[in-house]
Amino acid sequence: MIKDKVRVRMAPTPSGFLHLGTAHTALFNWLFARHYGGKFILRIDDTDPKRYRKEYEEEILESLRWLGINWDEGPDIGGPFAPYRQSKRMATYWRYIKKLLDEGKAYRCYCSPEKLKSEREAALKKGIAPKYSGCCRYLTSEERREIEKKGRRGAVRLKVSPGPVSFIDPSRGKITVKAEDIGDFVIARSDNTALLATATTIDDIEMKITHTIRGEDYLNFVPKQILLYDALGKKAPVFAHLSFIYGPDGSKLSKRHGSTAVSDYRKNGYLSDALVNYLMLLGWSPKDDREILSLSQVVKLFKLEDVSDANPKFDLDKLTWLNGAYIRRKTDRELGKLLKPFTPKEIPSALLKKMVPLVKERIKKLTDFPELVSFLIKYQKPNKEDLVPKGKSSQETLAILSLIFGEMKKFSLKNWQANRMEKKLLQVADSTDWKRVSFFQTFRVAIAGGKTSPPLFGSIELLGKKETLNRLRKAMRFL
Ligand code: ZN
Repeated sequence: MIKDKVRVRMAPTPSGFLHLGTAHTALFNWLFARHYGGKFILRIDDTDPKRYRKEYEEEILESLRWLGINWDEGPDIGGPFAPYRQSKRMATYWRYIKKLLDEGKAYRCYCSPEKLKSEREAALKKGIAPKYSGCCRYLTSEERREIEKKGRRGAVRLKVSPGPVSFIDPSRGKITVKAEDIGDFVIARSDNTALLATATTIDDIEMKITHTIRGEDYLNFVPKQILLYDALGKKAPVFAHLSFIYGPDGSKLSKRHGSTAVSDYRKNGYLSDALVNYLMLLGWSPKDDREILSLSQVVKLFKLEDVSDANPKFDLDKLTWLNGAYIRRKTDRELGKLLKPFTPKEIPSALLKKMVPLVKERIKKLTDFPELVSFLIKYQKPNKEDLVPKGKSSQETLAILSLIFGEMKKFSLKNWQANRMEKKLLQVADSTDWKRVSFFQTFRVAIAGGKTSPPLFGSIELLGKKETLNRLRKAMRFL
């Protein structure tokens, strides 16, 4: 049972486009917050000026909005614990670090990087986990003054006492490590800037975060964070970890598996609700065989305890299948709107509106649309091999095309309607010794230039009588 008011956060580093894995973590935080009626906070980790780029920050926010993941407090909208940008919170971090120094819970370590490195290497050689020897912990204040007089500045280390450090991850159970294996660790650099784990802990304290839900790469972070919470006399939040999404080869999803940026999927014709639906099913399931679920349905069901600790596999075919299913569930009006940005300029809105019902069953991505309908605006010359079915000669094909031409010519403009034409041409096909499939393949290739197209008669209706007869005529000339 969760008593405190739930507050979760997401703290992306804008050093690249919003990654599918980050979107997945944001989504699970969001679902958790919404399930308990809590708050979802967005905080920007922009402390490394070499990695931070403003355009990435904007892109991350835009991609989250596109996915329907909204935040209650953040850098763009503010909130009671502003600023939501780590670069603007340095003074706060120092206030906490200084307090630990003043209380004797932390101390300066003056060891040179070379000395620390050789100690590390010696430990690794002996086959033991490296940790700081603690040599600066017992320096007297006089000794410190002497060292600092020489202009040496030390990093800040937290004093760690031996004993077990435990936490319960909702989907992994109890995890315990020995504090003596961690040793006195650095919490701030010699220039007094906080390390990431320190800054994160202080932000989470200040922003009253109750649950941190992050990727499994943060598991190693937790014991140090717990020791910091203890030193600061604060209650640690619940620490939950999501397993990495794997690519098809069983390694962490990365660029070599294909696109990993949310914005690429948007550009490639995926719908936000399909992508969100797919991401929700990575590591979580409704415990039945439902696969098409909306955000609001999952908000009602979502529990951290139900998140699997197994690594979910990213399956592009499955996502594409789901995308097609979402496309078919849209109304013609909704789909027309979604297709608009993918529609060639030559297709006016009125024509687009008529095309939507023709393509709805046939496209899996919005980007399939322009190719599928291009034959309607631009004549595509067919291949002779496609035009002439197997087992038939050019002469026989020519005879069939001229029969079709004659029948199509008879339709008045008033009767130029898909269902009328289809009914009639089925009769014509059956009156020949051709199989229906061969008959209509030849017809389709003559009109569309290839074997795949939206429904033939719907397309012919849009194409109009003059253009249809033109194309039949041209096809006959090829034979
Ligand atoms: Zn030292």
